[in-house]
Amino acid sequence: MLAAEWNDWRWQSRNRIRTLEQFERVMVLSDVERAALVQGGTPLPTGVTPYYMSLIDPLDPNQPLRKTVVPSTAEFVRTAGEADDPLGEDDHSPVPGLVHRYPDRVLLLALDFCTTYCRYCTRSRVVGHGEIVANETRLEQAFDYLRRTPQVRDVLISGGDPLALSEERLDWILGSLRGIPHIEFVRIGTKMPAVLPQRITPSLCRMLRKHHPLWMSLHFLHPDECTPEAERACARLADAGIPLGSQTVLLKGVNDDVDTMTRLVHRLLRMRVRPYYLYQCDPLSGSAHFRTSVDKGLEIIEGLRGHTSGYAVPTYVIDAPGGGGKVPLQPNYLVGRDGDDVVVRNFEGKSFRYPDPLTAGPSLGGDRRPSPARLSEAAEAATCSSG
Ligand SMILES: *Cc1c(COP(=O)(O)O)cnc(C)c1O
Repeated sequence: MLAAEWNDWRWQSRNRIRTLEQFERVMVLSDVERAALVQGGTPLPTGVTPYYMSLIDPLDPNQPLRKTVVPSTAEFVRTAGEADDPLGEDDHSPVPGLVHRYPDRVLLLALDFCTTYCRYCTRSRVVGHGEIVANETRLEQAFDYLRRTPQVRDVLISGGDPLALSEERLDWILGSLRGIPHIEFVRIGTKMPAVLPQRITPSLCRMLRKHHPLWMSLHFLHPDECTPEAERACARLADAGIPLGSQTVLLKGVNDDVDTMTRLVHRLLRMRVRPYYLYQCDPLSGSAHFRTSVDKGLEIIEGLRGHTSGYAVPTYVIDAPGGGGKVPLQPNYLVGRDGDDVVVRNFEGKSFRYPDPLTAGPSLGGDRRPSPARLSEAAEAATCSSG
């Protein structure tokens, strides 16, 4: 293999590690990993780019990154409350591959292919099955729906990984969306800077920058992913004027401690990526080994807020099973009320009082807003006194 091949994203994509034989050539598999690869049959395909494999410890099955891409028999275990489509995406899909759950924005699945499959994938029911393809017939149906749905002002292109598409295809998709006047804002969700940073070529960036305002949600989950290659990829995207956010899934034994998460968010800020969401892992079939308690997520946010830059603190969310959308969760900093004061606690656990004007205002009573009658009385009073 030549360096030119290693740095060529198409070579990386063609040479993904997928089979038992290929895995055995590059690592010592544990029993549960080997059994999962022999048995197969989970809906989620297996694949890891040679680049991402180079970040993986061949001897330690407990290495965080390894657990996220090498299958294990734990995926075959189904637990109460789990489902193949916990977010009810299929019920909110007006046309194939388009999810319209919120009033003003949609999720457009561009394709169902990824170069590297995350074992906790929220779309394991669809990825790698060849049902969602980036062909004109399906996408034109999606664009038609968007043209006749003027309340949509924001389109999130995800998948699969949209950056696995050719530049021409992605250029056409972005151009088509940009051509719809009420679409103000387009974003792309991708894990390429983490799993295949070689994909972020100057030519890709030249194409992307034609379609501003374009934002990107990157998927980083561990500081080990923040390599010089990933840093260069993010720099190219940022230099192309694309604001970068990171969506991180909270995973047991991978990133579920304050120290790992602090190192991750610090690395992200240095790479010009703003931590956007920390996701509670969805209750997907076979995900019990990845899921932490909600208290763990709150503990991590509490360990970040105040202790480090506000920009480093993501919003912790549960994507509500059944299609409720993302619900934010915060540690409770409100201790209570004492008379007219609100009592709050800071990151050091000290209590402070704030005189709350909403409850303190004597004449407004319980009503937050003065009535129009009261405002015109006040205006009249002012006119009289001034002249
Ligand atoms: C996450 C998501 C969005 C985008 O949500 P934001 O909170 O605006 O980032 C839109 N549609 C669907 C279906 C989603 O899951």
